[in-house]
Formats: sequence, C-alpha cells, structure tokens
Amino acid sequence: MKALVYTKPSEMIYRDEPEPTASPGEVLIRVDAVGICGSDMHAYHGRDPRRIPPLILGHELAGEILAGPGIGRRVTVNPLITCGRCEFCVQGRNNLCANRTMIGMTRAGGFAQYVTTAAASVIDLPQGMATRTAALTEPAATALHALDMATRVLARPLPECTVLVIGAGAVGLLASLLLKSYGCRHIRLAETNPIRRASAERAGGFTVHDPANTDRPAESSIDLVVDAVGAATTRQSALTVVKPGGVVMHIGLAGGASEIDMRKLTLAEISLIGSYTYSTADLRAAARALHDGAFGDLAWVEERPLAEGPRAFRDLDEGRAAAAKIILRPQ
Ligand SMILES: [Zn+2]
Ligand SMILES: [Zn+2]
Repeated sequence: MKALVYTKPSEMIYRDEPEPTASPGEVLIRVDAVGICGSDMHAYHGRDPRRIPPLILGHELAGEILAGPGIGRRVTVNPLITCGRCEFCVQGRNNLCANRTMIGMTRAGGFAQYVTTAAASVIDLPQGMATRTAALTEPAATALHALDMATRVLARPLPECTVLVIGAGAVGLLASLLLKSYGCRHIRLAETNPIRRASAERAGGFTVHDPANTDRPAESSIDLVVDAVGAATTRQSALTVVKPGGVVMHIGLAGGASEIDMRKLTLAEISLIGSYTYSTADLRAAARALHDGAFGDLAWVEERPLAEGPRAFRDLDEGRAAAAKIILRPQ
C-alpha cells in the first residue's frame, strides 16, 4: 500500500509499505480521508518524543471496514485505544485511560491506504455523512469536550458570556464555530498568521484580531478564554484578559511548564482547566454535530491527495496554508 511515512525530523516520504492485517479483536479500515493534526506537525518538528520515526502518523481518519467485526460499515475511529477496565475507563473518562495507546503514535496511523485498530475504537458515521466531514470528528470532539467542561464551571449561560479563543487552527476555529452554534454572541478569535485570520473571518464571521496589535481585549474583560495554543505567552494573555470569576480553558500543547500569575488566579477566583482529547461519547456527539451542520459551512477545509502529503507538511510548517485543516485523500 501507499503511505506517508515520517522518517526523520522535517522529512515525510510517500512510499510503499506492507499492507497491515487485522489481528483478532481488530478491524482493517480503508482510509478515505485523514486530517493533518497539530500533533502530527509536532512530530514532524521532532518535538514529540512519543512519536519515533520511521512511523506512519495520522489519527483523524474516516473510511470503511474491510476486515474484522462490522465489515462494510463507514466509520471514524477513536485514535486512543483504551483498556475499558481501569478506573478512568469505567467512569466514562477513557481519554485518561491509564493503559492507553494511540494510532499514529504507538502504532501505525492513518496516513496510508489502510490502517488497523481495535474493533472497540470504531465509531459509526451517521447515515449519509460525507467522508471529508467525518475526518473532522476528532478535532471537533476535542473542541466539544473542552467546551463541555468549561460550561459546567461558568457562572452564567454561554450565550451571555464574552469569549476569547486563542489560536485559529482547527481546534480553535472549531471551538469558535461550536460556541456560535451554542448561541454565544460575543466571540473573539486571536491569531498571529494573517492568512489564517482571513480564513477564520470567512469561515465564521468572527472578529479575528492579531494579538500583537492593540485591538486585543482589555484586561479582565473576558468570561471564558479558550487557549488552543498553549504556549507560555498565550497562557499569560489568557490570565490577563480573563474576568474575575472567569474560566481559562487550556487545550493547546505548544509549550510545557511556565510561570503563571497565581496571585490573580487566587484573588480573582479564576478556574484554570486543562482539557485533553475526548471520551468516546464526545466523539459520537461530535460526529452527530458535524453531520447536523452545527459547525456551519466547512468550505475552509482543504483537501489534497496523500501523495502530496510532504508538500502539505512543508506548507503548514512555513505558514503558507490558509486552511486550518488539510485533509489528505489516500485513495
Ligand atoms: Zn488530532
Ligand atoms: Zn483504561
């Protein structure tokens, strides 16, 4: 089969790889569409010690089951393969599974014509759902999970809240679009890349500003800040602009440890919440929401053949891709 292989930092090669076979309890999936994730970019930059080359990356996929339970079903997958038995799995919080592995990380991923995964990880697509839409389920579920957690902590209903989303990549943009569908009327989006800003403005009609400019939100003016970048500087801005009693939802993984203003956090009773991926329930809800049109017109998503994957990685790396999401087509 053809696959896009991460061979070393800054190198992706489109080449022939052995076709995988499904072991008992697994399914073989023909991959029809697979998105490039920020975490794939992290690996490409050599900054993810968990993704060791040579490796087929990619975990945001949709396709059809060719072998194993459920042959012929059109599915997306939970990239996290979880044990179903640990304390987190039994609570329904399987994103925290103590024994989790992941496709495109600990085993071959979806930048290929075929992939295998645990049969328990597949999620059926709603009837008639387009494959390109289905491939957005994973980043959409990341946004949905985070907003669900934030909503439980906010003092007032979301439509009344002022929201700032930092970062107009796929998760930031999908979070903004979902907030809009939840009835949120005051959404601001911060993005440093000018072509990404233009793309986000077209996608949702949001006020998108350059955080380097003075039109950024005033200090202590925002009820909910969603940090979809997660760098030292964005964490600091998030804490600066959040209102007393407000919520900072931290999703991005751009930078590890950094100092935060614990004095403001304490005196202003800020809730700082970390959010990681999604549960299986979130993935199902996200697929349904995408199919129902909750994320609006998805014309901002770009599609390219898998064979042009190396170029797509270079374009993303050099900030030349306007689209917040590039979907590769292996077939
Ligand atoms: Zn992803
Ligand atoms: Zn578990």
